[in-house]
Amino acid sequence: MGQPVALLRYDSLMTAKEYDHAAILEGIHILDGGMASELEYLGANINGPLWSAHVLEDSPEKVVAVHRAYITAGADVIETASYQVSRMGYAEFGFAPDRADAALLQAVRLARAAAEEFPDRKVLVAASLGPYGAALHNGAEYHGNYGVSFSELVEFHRARIDILAQGGPDRPDLLAFETLPSLEEARAIGEALSPWPELATWFCFTCKDECHVAHGELLADCAAAVASLPQTVAIGVNCTHPSLIPSLIGELRVASDKPVVVYPNSGEGWDAEARCWTGKGDPESFGAQAAEWFAAGAQIVGGCCRTRPAHIHQVAETVDR
Ligand SMILES: [Zn+2]
Repeated sequence: MGQPVALLRYDSLMTAKEYDHAAILEGIHILDGGMASELEYLGANINGPLWSAHVLEDSPEKVVAVHRAYITAGADVIETASYQVSRMGYAEFGFAPDRADAALLQAVRLARAAAEEFPDRKVLVAASLGPYGAALHNGAEYHGNYGVSFSELVEFHRARIDILAQGGPDRPDLLAFETLPSLEEARAIGEALSPWPELATWFCFTCKDECHVAHGELLADCAAAVASLPQTVAIGVNCTHPSLIPSLIGELRVASDKPVVVYPNSGEGWDAEARCWTGKGDPESFGAQAAEWFAAGAQIVGGCCRTRPAHIHQVAETVDR
């Protein structure tokens, strides 16, 4: 069912220039850090696969508090608490599709509410959209072997895109597709986005080494494929060990001239081969590495798993703002 030629359809649509998407992420930006662990720190119950549904519905003030903490730390791009929200994931637990749709928009509202607490700051709200594997709740996003057709992937992404695109006042400033494991899934998102050339979008991949995404394709090939989409405002890497980031930034810069966004995990990790904990996860060393990522050409830097406001504060400190 693979239909990579679908990307060519954009030739008949409006071009990126007509929307001036490039302006939205001009310059240097600080992205926020991890959401789940921070909610847990605030006492939210994030046990269970549909944790974001419960938190969004029952503890909206905690979601706002996490956003507030990251903006206070220096973030000027914040991601909504919707990484795992999808009709498919909700259906698995007997939740109606409209409940998933409502959660997506609620997540945008909560992020916007936090941003509006800082009227002197320009804070962008990015809708966090995880890959198909995130809705399977089994870690499949880290290998990307889903066993589903290209058109099923397109439909999965189309449902969320359509809701956000029609969200009116609850429309986010941009869509943040993240932890993408494969070229095929990026192409499926491109196809699902095709009715909405005006939606600013970034594509972030999870990588397994210095140049390959989790499923095995070259990051450079993935970046080149999405760079031609009219919606693309940045391309990058997330949910990846920070030690791999300098090399991956190099791959991205060769593949396209789009702004580079990186938000790796904190750096703590279990090395199964060496049988030891590796890397430093402390905010200071994360900030020191962030300075290197900016120097290597990254324009937007934040954190993924196990990063906290203290990490983002250190990232912000490295930037002369
Ligand atoms: Zn992560």
